[in-house]
Amino acid sequence: MTTTFESFALDAAIFKAVQEAGFKEPSPIQQQAIPLVLEGHDMVAQAQTGTGKTAAFALPILSKVDPREKGVHVLVITPTRELATQVSDEIYMLGRFKGFKTVTVYGGSSYTRQMKLIEAGASVVVATPGRMLDLLKNNRLKDFNPSVVVLDEADEMLDMGFLDDIKEIFTYLPSSRQTMLFSATMPEPIKQLAKKILKEPKFVSVTPANMTTNVDIEQCYYVIEEWERDDAVIRLLDTLDPDKAIMFCRTKKEVDMLTTKLTAGGFAVKGLHGDMEQPQREEVIKAFRFSNIDLLVATDVAARGLNVKEISHVINVHIPFDPESYVHRIGRTGRAGKKGMAITLCTPMEYNSIQRIGKKVGTNIEHRVLPTRGELQK
Ligand code: ADP
Ligand code: MG
Repeated sequence: MTTTFESFALDAAIFKAVQEAGFKEPSPIQQQAIPLVLEGHDMVAQAQTGTGKTAAFALPILSKVDPREKGVHVLVITPTRELATQVSDEIYMLGRFKGFKTVTVYGGSSYTRQMKLIEAGASVVVATPGRMLDLLKNNRLKDFNPSVVVLDEADEMLDMGFLDDIKEIFTYLPSSRQTMLFSATMPEPIKQLAKKILKEPKFVSVTPANMTTNVDIEQCYYVIEEWERDDAVIRLLDTLDPDKAIMFCRTKKEVDMLTTKLTAGGFAVKGLHGDMEQPQREEVIKAFRFSNIDLLVATDVAARGLNVKEISHVINVHIPFDPESYVHRIGRTGRAGKKGMAITLCTPMEYNSIQRIGKKVGTNIEHRVLPTRGELQK
């Protein structure tokens, strides 16, 4: 049985907006979150990007709050100006038939205008942390007592270094309030923050099917410079001493180059890519399967359908192009209840891509520091 929007006790004007928006049925995170928010619980909600987290909090909140009552009732904190605008647009769309006024508050634009708009009767404020804290610290908002507070995309706020600002913002907020925290991933500092600012929260989460729900795979990434990429692979192989590892490169040429380099370094390694003749490929796969070689360097295409058990490590020498191939690649390890490790090398330029992949698959890919040569010699 699927839950419908009708089955929630949404306000009629809000329900109308849902229909106008063309939302047919609530997304999984909305199904879980909406009833709890309506009941007034504090909540931590985890779901990857694009799963409808905004409406998951906006629909029940807008249903409960009366825009005719004076003052700001709802504060939503989002990491960036772009997100603030997006959330504010969505809140406008979902709340317009009930007459909600929303103000977006962010740095780099006039204080006075934002304050005037708030005083002109806005019930919802969507703000970035820096500007919000500014307004509160300088006592620019009179009678600012939102009864509902949402921290949206909390992991992103952490990444951007807003954690202290957030904590400070909460010192200005009324202690009697309903608080919600939404995030794609749940790194430890966010869990700690949740403990601090939420009261007896309900936890809801939606992890994508077949994505990285495999808890047997430990996932991390190392930030490297482009010139040290091959060297980093060698250092990792030296420290980790994997039973059986597969290394992914983007091109056939990179496969050949890395294979040559590793062979010269004394590793039992072979390359696998699409230009090889079928018999030759089969020979390489057989050698890997029967552990005549421990290491395989491959392209995505060549590794498709490769079914070798007991691969202990997957190394993404280059970050994969999309989350799907990331999931596909790392799924080669951690099979049949065995532990596996998936490592991704990325340059500072690729940092955003790894963050994006982590959010898309709803996993917290841990940042680690590469062992130095000195440490290896010890
Ligand atoms: P998230 O915050 O989880 O990344 P958003 O809240 O930004 O995702 O939602 C992504 C898009 O999905 C938005 O354009 C939103 O309007 C749309 N959306 C939300 N809920 C539904 C639904 N139940 N059915 C269809 N579209 C939806
Ligand atoms: Mg969002």
